[in-house]
Order: sequence, then C-alpha cells, then structure tokens
Amino acid sequence: MSKSLTEKLSELAKRRGFFFQSSEAYGGVAGFQTFGPEGAELKRNIENSWRETFSDSLGHREIEAPTIMPEPVFEASGHLDTFDDMIIECPECGTSSRADHLVEDNTDIEEAESFSHEQVEALIKEHNLECPSCGEDLSNVAVEDFNLMFETSIGPGSGQTGYLRPETAQGIFVEFPRLKEYARNQLPFGITQIGKAYRNEISPRKGLVRVRELTQAELEHFIDPEEDEPRLEKVEDVELKLYSREQQNAEDGEPQFMTVKEAVEEEVVESDWIAYYLGIAKQWYEEIGVDMERFRFRQHQNDELSHYASDCWDAESQVDGDWIEITGFAYRGCYDLKKHDQYSREDYKIFKEYDEPKTVEKNTVSPDMGYLGPEFGDKAGKIAEKLEEIAENEPEAFEADKVFVEVDGEEYSVPADKCNFSVEEVTENGEHILPHVVEPSFGIDRMVYTVLAHAYDEDEVDDEERTVMRFNEEVAPTEVAVFPLMDKEGLGEKAQEVADKLREEGFSVKYDDTGNIGKRYRRQDEVGTPVCVTIDYETLEDEPETVTVRDRDSTDQERVEISDLADYLA
Ligand code: AMP
Repeated sequence: MSKSLTEKLSELAKRRGFFFQSSEAYGGVAGFQTFGPEGAELKRNIENSWRETFSDSLGHREIEAPTIMPEPVFEASGHLDTFDDMIIECPECGTSSRADHLVEDNTDIEEAESFSHEQVEALIKEHNLECPSCGEDLSNVAVEDFNLMFETSIGPGSGQTGYLRPETAQGIFVEFPRLKEYARNQLPFGITQIGKAYRNEISPRKGLVRVRELTQAELEHFIDPEEDEPRLEKVEDVELKLYSREQQNAEDGEPQFMTVKEAVEEEVVESDWIAYYLGIAKQWYEEIGVDMERFRFRQHQNDELSHYASDCWDAESQVDGDWIEITGFAYRGCYDLKKHDQYSREDYKIFKEYDEPKTVEKNTVSPDMGYLGPEFGDKAGKIAEKLEEIAENEPEAFEADKVFVEVDGEEYSVPADKCNFSVEEVTENGEHILPHVVEPSFGIDRMVYTVLAHAYDEDEVDDEERTVMRFNEEVAPTEVAVFPLMDKEGLGEKAQEVADKLREEGFSVKYDDTGNIGKRYRRQDEVGTPVCVTIDYETLEDEPETVTVRDRDSTDQERVEISDLADYLA
C-alpha cells in the first residue's frame, strides 16, 4: 500500500531536519516537537511574513508578555472554569482518550467538540465505541472534563499558583490599561503577539497539528463598535471560499466563492471586521504557499460558538482529506476587557470624548439618612446604594408610595418620599466605554505543517523519481545552495567565496561539497531550495567568471556572471 502524505512528510521532516519528536533519546513524550534547522528557518520565515502582514503593514504594534501568568488572570478570563476538553478513561488499561475525537474518528460526525457530555456518551454507547488501545467497550464509561492548562508554582516553598498561558491573547488583554495609555486612549488600535502557548492536550496527534507546546500569532484589534469601520476597500475584490453555516447544514451544501464585498453585502459574513481580516488573511495564505484548492473558510455552527463570540470563522487547510483549523477569526465583543475590568483593580475602559458636550437627563436619589439610619440600622448604607441603582435602571419604581429593595437576600420597603428622587440635567463631555475586540488567532505550527504538506510534490527528473518541496521563495528555509563541482583545484575556495558573498547580501545559503552533484541537487530539492549555484572548471576559465544556476522546479540551468549573481537571484 502506498504511503499517505502524512507518513511521507513525517519521514522527510525527520530526515531533512524540518521537525521531529523531542527528547527521543529519553523515550520522548507525545505533543512536543523540535524544529530542526530547516524547520526552524521555515517557521521563522512564516512568522516574519505574518509580522510584516498583520502587524507592520497594518500599523499595529507587537508586544512580548511572559508565558507564565498568575492564577487570578485565568479566574477572570474563564480558563480555569471552562478551558476543558472531554476525556474518557478506559477502565481496563487506563488509557485516556478525547471523547469527542473518539466519536469523530469512528462515525460520520465531524464536529463532536460542540456536543454536551450526555450527547457524546450517548453516541459512544450507540456506536459501541472501544478503547483505541486495548479494545475495551466504553459504552458505559462516563465522559469527564479535563482542564488543559499546565499548572506551576511561582517562587520557593508553596509559592503562588501560576499557569503556562494557554493562548497568547491574555497577555495582551491583561495589559490593556498600559496599552491604552500607550495608544493615548485613541481607538482603534491593534496589538499583536507571536509566542509560545501551552495546552495539556489529552491526545496529541499528527506531528505538528496537535501539540502541547505551540506557537501562536495573535492580533487583538481594539475598536469602538459604534464608530470604527474597517477599510474594506483594501480587500473588497479579494475572492473568498466560504463554507457558511447554512451551506454546512444544507443537504448538498458546498463552499461558495464570493468577494469580500459580496460576502458583506449578502451578510454571509456578519461582521465587516471579520470579513476584512478574512480578505487580508486569504492574500497572505496564498503568498506563503497554501494551496487554495485545499483551503476554505468555515463558519462556526451556533452550538460551536464561544459564548462571547458573535461571529466566528475558521480558516481550514486540508491534508490527506482531513480539515485542519489553522486560524480562528472571532468578533469577541467586550467580553475579555469586561472580565478583567471586573476582576482586577485596574480600569479597562476608555474615555470617549464627545465632539460637543451633551446635556443629558440623569435620575438621582438623595435618601434621607436621618430616616434610613434609625429604621434599617447597619443595612442603611447598602439600601441607599440600591436605591441609586434603581433610580438609574427603573426610575418608574419611585412613582409608587413605597420602593422595594433587596439587600443580602432580605426585602426592605422604603417610603418613596424618603428617597428624594429627582431628574436633573447634567452636562457630559464624554463617556467611558469598553472597546470591542476583533481577533484573528493563528496557530503557527499548523501553518508550518500546511505549508510543508502543500509544498510536497513528487516528479521525475532524468527518469529518476524525486521528492521536491515547492516552497514559495518568501518562506523557503534555504534560499540558495552553493556547490563546488569538486573540492579541488581551487573550486572549493571559489565556491566558499561565492557563498560568503551571497550571505553578505542577505541570502540564506547552504554550502555543500559532499557526494555527487546529482545527489546534492536532490538533497536541496527535498528541502525546497529554489536555486542551486555550481562552481565548475568553466568558472575559473571564463572571463568574467561565471557559474551554473539551476532552478528547482524546472531543473533548467543557466550560466550567470558571478558579479551579477546577487542581482539575478534577487
Ligand atoms: P484557539 O484559541 O483554540 O482558537 O486556537 C487558535 C489557533 O491555535 C488554532 O486556530 C490552531 O491553529 C492553533 N492551535 C490550537 N491548539 C493547538 C494545538 N494543540 N497544537 C497546535 N496548534 C493549535
């Protein structure tokens, strides 16, 4: 049976230094991968290209926050309570599996992640699903929650509880009070971050696709929801392949092609901001070599949406027929900033000044404490505070003779004439608002994996099969390889000289003088080097000196003068 792309890629990745299991010398542990020299360079190129597109070109700024954060951050963000996956433990062999994946892998159901425990348990029973390790029947085993955060303790002794961040985003949200000052309280502004995040995945799988230590590139765009509009005109003609909720639920539903402008006008994408970022991202995916035949944007189903997100799309790439979520685009509203505003001691609001001061009517009360004190004792203060809230939210309550107030679970009644309710006119210069957040969140490891998988190709050269990684020049880890035909009679020295010169010009260059030339070409094809430069006897004879330049894809060769080489390659 011929090997799958996943298998071939994993072999090539190990052999040619893209990525491999970490700490293998000690048996390794699932979910941790090391990027070898070619992989690390490929990843760096993808990150730099992301930085250029999503940070620098859009005028956003990048920060670098710590990867360990104290517990209260995750109490506020909700991760302690809800950052869980469904786990099922085999009673026979003790193997833990992700319950929703067990269902997805063994039935036609594609999105079990959004189901409830009860639904997943019922499906396991209905399909008589078994433990993937030992085959034990799991029909009557309970599905539990498993929190994905790695816990640690900060400082000596019992220390303070901390967590390795499960996403880079919290580092941006938590620091919003400093960041808004930096932005001089002017919306909109965007903050980006590329960095490590940690998730104690129940069943890591497929090389880089589900790892426990991952790299994310996230952009948090803080906007005033009432005033700020994206610059849609920049991307309005970009064509998107959209697999909407409606199409997913239709019997013969298919992804549809439409421009950003059409997607907004026809309300296929509800948020203009999300549509804008889908347009920017689509161009970027193409630039770094994602195959558009194996790519789509998929809208979240209603039951899949996070409770805070109103419109959410995933970018998905396909490898061996499986769809992989490579990016999530979410309109998060003010959820995150509101939480930190409530839980922390800082102010996460922005003062929005009106163009002109506004005169507004304000409902106020001035409770008669001479009455409240003797009547309600130590509850009087709290009752007065409640009356202020009621004045603001339900002023009609003061039209009755008595106003009813609940304090500490007890109901009290206060005569309306002791409340001194009035409506006053006040002049306001502005208001404090919680900005909304638009978030494109990229998984860099999955981007690297997709670029590798989509670059992978096999063809025949001179009746010989070859494997070639057709990386775009933008991301190719090694840009040029320089070979002396043989390491003798001055060819080696000349080749070193050419390699050094190209490195000075900023190219990433590999020098190789081992094995025959054909083998060296194949090695570079396998790491996707776009051009190879060979120094041969003609080089030394020619006046001016020339070299052979060989193109990876066509394998055509050309002679180029050494003095023109850098320009030619650029
Ligand atoms: P999320 O916060 O879950 O929406 O994740 C944001 C992005 O991070 C996803 O679109 C994935 O590309 C990536 N990602 C999430 N979990 C993992 C993982 N365990 N391994 C690799 N990439 C991941």
